[in-house]
Amino acid sequence: MAKIISIANQKGGVGKTTTTINLSSLLAAAEKRTLLIDIDPQANSSSGLSVTNHTPSVYEVLVGTKNIKDVIINSFMPFLDMLPSNINLVGAEIEMVNMISRETLLKKALENMTEKFDYILIDCPPSLGLLTLNALSAAQKLIIPIQCEYFALEGLGQLIETTKLIRGINPSLTIGGVILTMYDSRTKLSENVVKDVKDFFGDIAFNTIVPRNVRLSEAPSYGKTIFQYDKNSTGAFAYRRLASEFIDRFEK
Ligand code: ADP
Ligand code: MG
Repeated sequence: MAKIISIANQKGGVGKTTTTINLSSLLAAAEKRTLLIDIDPQANSSSGLSVTNHTPSVYEVLVGTKNIKDVIINSFMPFLDMLPSNINLVGAEIEMVNMISRETLLKKALENMTEKFDYILIDCPPSLGLLTLNALSAAQKLIIPIQCEYFALEGLGQLIETTKLIRGINPSLTIGGVILTMYDSRTKLSENVVKDVKDFFGDIAFNTIVPRNVRLSEAPSYGKTIFQYDKNSTGAFAYRRLASEFIDRFEK
């Protein structure tokens, strides 16, 4: 039975995509059958793994013109499959508005997939619109990346409220983790955000903190994970630690 995990935060630029790409590839490297679903019209986690402008995409799955099994593709890793995104998805939210059970289209599409994978990770867009609602309805766990920056906690109340609302359709949804990202050890600010997040979330926050590391930001422009691009970078070390903490937490 797959564990379905949505990586969401309606703020942009907090590390959702970077986390989804690198965590998925480490799960696959550990021979966990992993599916990365890119449900962001910006398609950054698709392009970050060298899959650009792919058709069909999650768009066809959501609007019901394709069966998910005909859209999932293999990545460069044997244990990592992808449901890619495409800019077409921009229109999907509008098209979906009048569809029946519009919040649970992804959940429905995944029904026959849960035996095929150990992990399904969903990279969400930076909003709380229908695409994110679909991701949250389909998931058992929500993971929230939080950037160690000003206003880091701003908007989290809204995300937590949305999670509670979603429990109406998906009672099993809980917050599975909070990941502090882009930590800069030179700043007092980063330290303060860490403290605030740990005060607020307690043990839900992962112990691993992802540092700000330029190699992490360069890797996607080559369509590579951090492990292909620079496996000895501080970013690569942090994501490896995070992955082992992640596996410990979800396989207990
Ligand atoms: P989101 O998906 O939440 O919008 P991204 O993962 O795309 O966020 O990250 C936003 C930007 O910051 C991207 O350019 C990404 O490459 C960069 N980035 C992400 N994590 C780090 C990090 N730990 N250190 C440096 N740059 C990072
Ligand atoms: Mg993103």
